[in-house]
Amino acid sequence: MATVKKAGHTSIILQFPEGLKRNAIDVAGDIDAQLKDVHVQISGEPCFGACDLPSNPDGLIVNFGHYPIPNLAHDGEVLFIPARSNKDPIPIVRKVLPELKGRVGVVSTPQYIHRVPDIVDLLSDNDITPFVSKGDDRIFKEGQVLGCNTSAARAIAKDIDIILFIGAGDFHPLALALGTNKDIVIADPDMDEIRGIRDLKDRVLRQRHAVISQAKDAEVFGVILSTKPGQRREDLARDIVKDLRKAGKKAYIVEMENTSPQILDSFSATAWVSTACPRLAIDDHLAYNKPIITPPELDIILGKREWEDYIFDEIV
Ligand code: SF4
Repeated sequence: MATVKKAGHTSIILQFPEGLKRNAIDVAGDIDAQLKDVHVQISGEPCFGACDLPSNPDGLIVNFGHYPIPNLAHDGEVLFIPARSNKDPIPIVRKVLPELKGRVGVVSTPQYIHRVPDIVDLLSDNDITPFVSKGDDRIFKEGQVLGCNTSAARAIAKDIDIILFIGAGDFHPLALALGTNKDIVIADPDMDEIRGIRDLKDRVLRQRHAVISQAKDAEVFGVILSTKPGQRREDLARDIVKDLRKAGKKAYIVEMENTSPQILDSFSATAWVSTACPRLAIDDHLAYNKPIITPPELDIILGKREWEDYIFDEIV
């Protein structure tokens, strides 16, 4: 509240990820009660990351749940309030110790990244050599992984035997498995569970192989270009159109903020290449009627890359 008062903003847009939207009205009410002259508004749009900030050039955006993406410029002031878990990850990391040996890469997400130094100490005390890297310019915290960026793990991949992910869900571990080709062990404090990701990775790769095969015969491609600042890869989209046309296909960029089967089905494209969030093609493709592939997957279709050299699409 002090930050908002000090900056003297007269308007605030509050932005919440899906899991925190249920708290939005209460939070807006608290701010309203304390800052009488400030106009408070809630963004109702989906928010899956700091890649997707609304515009409020003369006011303040408050983004809950995420850390900033350092290499992403924004036209106004943004206050990031990451969602830190109250759960203690140390007990589940203690349980996973027998599965770890040698050199271990440590990665996490905003929920638990603040506990990485404690986890590193615990590993060191147990004759395990921990590695933590700061990643590239899209990464805010040492050891942080995004669903579209595993640079903090790739930077240490050659030095480590296994990656320890501390956090919830399989979304980020899947990125790590596809992005690094390393074994991943997940210590999930929310579920009090230790698990791997190999079966899911294998299933996803089988699905990707099938989707690439479907897209191979398409003659008309739509190339998705996102209007979201942190998902917008315009040069890449243009290069893809050029490559497709050179290969004798019809191709156009289609710009959109959000993507849905209804939106894509309105067009006569028989396959899509997504330059937006890489997870659209990987995680959501079953919801779509036409094949959606990533840029590196298009390289396989165009003969620039072999299936055996499959790489995960990352925004860096
Ligand atoms: S591009 Fe996708 S994976 Fe990357 S931060 Fe945005 S929503 Fe998350």
